[in-house]
Amino acid sequence: MVSKIPNDIFQFSTASALMAGLAHNGPSCGQLPGYGSHGIGTFGSMNGELLFLDGKPWQMLPSGKVQPADPETSLPFVQVTKFSPEYEVDAPELKKRGLLEMFEKAGPHAGGKNSFVPFVVKGTFKSLYLRIAGPQQHPDQDLAEVAANARKWRLENVKGTMFGIVSPEWMQGVSIGGVHCHFMTEPEQGKDAEGGHVLDFETGDEAELQWAVTGRYHLGFPRDDEWEKLDLTADIAGLNKAEG
Ligand SMILES: [Zn+2]
Repeated sequence: MVSKIPNDIFQFSTASALMAGLAHNGPSCGQLPGYGSHGIGTFGSMNGELLFLDGKPWQMLPSGKVQPADPETSLPFVQVTKFSPEYEVDAPELKKRGLLEMFEKAGPHAGGKNSFVPFVVKGTFKSLYLRIAGPQQHPDQDLAEVAANARKWRLENVKGTMFGIVSPEWMQGVSIGGVHCHFMTEPEQGKDAEGGHVLDFETGDEAELQWAVTGRYHLGFPRDDEWEKLDLTADIAGLNKAEG
């Protein structure tokens, strides 16, 4: 197993491959702790979204249900890091589009538009606009189509945790340029956790933002016929729409 340098990002496959519909095989959920503590990704056949939090992988299903992910399940696209926050600030009334500004405000080394920035937002949320994509209706259905059919819903005044990665636009196609994060509510007694891919959010009065700047980025990819046949040219407009 590779050594874990804090805040390095380990990624399997590329956003372009997912856009092209390649969504099977990949590392299993059980392998994730070998690469870090936090991550985001998608499941085989794009059946829901992964939120890997504090060493625990959760599968957020298209039905809205959140369940511990089966260690055997494979992840056709995943980004993992051993998250070790370098910056921590109170972040009341923080919006998705205000994240980059928070990083830039914290100083010249605290991340900006050209760096990978893994981050956690924890606490109260005034509102969230979530989406769960999938599953694919047929093998190789591309991400644009899967995302267009995704269930979208809003949550208001909830407590929970979000993990995500801000990727620089120059990595669009390999990664997902801009803010990409997944969220789940705090599991409460008698209430099922809910979560998904975050389209938009605003924190409440008691929220905390933690982040770090990534120094290295490790990329693994499939090696087979199917991979070689894909058109991996970045469909930038399509990606912006599918992952916005
Ligand atoms: Zn996502």
